[in-house]
Amino acid sequence: MRNDERTAGDDKKYLWHPYTCMADWEEEDIIVIERGRGARLIDTLGREYLDGVSSLWVNLHGHGRREIDDAVSEQLGRIAHSTLLGLASVPSVELARRLVGLAPDSLERVFFSDNGSTAVEVALKLAFQYWQIRGRPEKRLFLSLDNAYHGDTIGAVSVGGIEEFHSIFKPLLFPAVSVTSPYCYRCPLGLRRSSCATACAEKAAGIIASRSDEAAALIIEPKVQGAGGMIVQPEGYLARVAEACRDSGVLLIADEVAVGFGRTGRMFACEHEGIQPDMMALGKGITGGYLPLAATLVSGGIYEAFRDRKFYHGHSFTGNQLACSAALASFGIFEREDVIAGLKGKIDRFRGLLGPVAELEHVGEVRQCGLMAGIELVADGETGRPYRPGEKIGHRVVLEARRRGLIVRPLGDVIVLMPPYCMTDGELEQTVSITREAIAMVTEKGRR
Ligand code: PMP
Repeated sequence: MRNDERTAGDDKKYLWHPYTCMADWEEEDIIVIERGRGARLIDTLGREYLDGVSSLWVNLHGHGRREIDDAVSEQLGRIAHSTLLGLASVPSVELARRLVGLAPDSLERVFFSDNGSTAVEVALKLAFQYWQIRGRPEKRLFLSLDNAYHGDTIGAVSVGGIEEFHSIFKPLLFPAVSVTSPYCYRCPLGLRRSSCATACAEKAAGIIASRSDEAAALIIEPKVQGAGGMIVQPEGYLARVAEACRDSGVLLIADEVAVGFGRTGRMFACEHEGIQPDMMALGKGITGGYLPLAATLVSGGIYEAFRDRKFYHGHSFTGNQLACSAALASFGIFEREDVIAGLKGKIDRFRGLLGPVAELEHVGEVRQCGLMAGIELVADGETGRPYRPGEKIGHRVVLEARRRGLIVRPLGDVIVLMPPYCMTDGELEQTVSITREAIAMVTEKGRR
């Protein structure tokens, strides 16, 4: 038995993969990734694939970036990890200083954890306790958007709004009030974008105002609801929601786990509409996609309320030194290469390449914000009638793309593209053209 066959066999024997029906997995020809360079993943058989989703939305500057590799190695020469409970560490201090410098002005303190869900969990618990400290214990309700995704821990699932992922756990969750999501392609208010005057934002603002006496906070993925299907918010929606929160005395938590660190073309998505959240959850790209690290940034006001008491929350690997070093090296690349400025051209090229994809018969809509895109596949392009779930169209497109050397993942029937920033023009073109071919192959049965 070849080594790679043994690994695949042992994977099927011993591992349990996330978000995966293992019975299907056991039947599939699985890919075992061994190495990575730039925007490419290389498997144990030496086959190369373009990493079309930045390794589940985490990688920024490519795999095997020398600067990050070196920073982690150097840190290893000093220490891999020490705790932040009762001790400080050099890279965590330096990183906190950098994050506060980059984030919206309202945010002044950094609480580290190790994944996006925990960053959200921290924000929810802080909001809950904040109102207790302020003598308003009745303000304990959370507001979140329809189609929201904020992670997989119980608190994060409680503020989630994706039926397929979240409904099974309902009996375990705390109640949350859902706010109208601006899913323009399937407008929940039955309106048309050309004439709606962003009525969903007014509806959301109305819900926020009506719940102000009992609401602790509203949590939102600014600009793009990622796992909900790459739902891009119309201009003004975010600012209106932020304004309603401010006017109603409801804390605003910006979940930038997916959209942060340049994905939307700005360092943080909040910048697009100049909003100043009370808290911000960060994860995924914070280390350039190298190591698990997350952070919850909070306002000076929230920090002050807690200053003479303890916040009973902390994880074993909070503020891990290797992860913080990787994050600092990633910021070094942002600065030296002026990455954010360079993204503009790439985003425009991406838009140009996506144009022809929208023309395909079974593409209902292509949604793009920065280097995040979702291609919604539909049974009927005219009416937007979805495919039956049993058809597994998204999954079939992904398998077809894989045969052509591209790794992508679907969200139901939405094909997600999220190229890492290091992709060359040629690689970007290849990524989109393979996606287009794969969609045409599956949805038009080879007719092109
Ligand atoms: N919030 C958002 C907006 C996300 O997209 C995700 C992950 N996709 C999370 C939170 C959870 O992050 P993690 O998977 O690191 O727990």
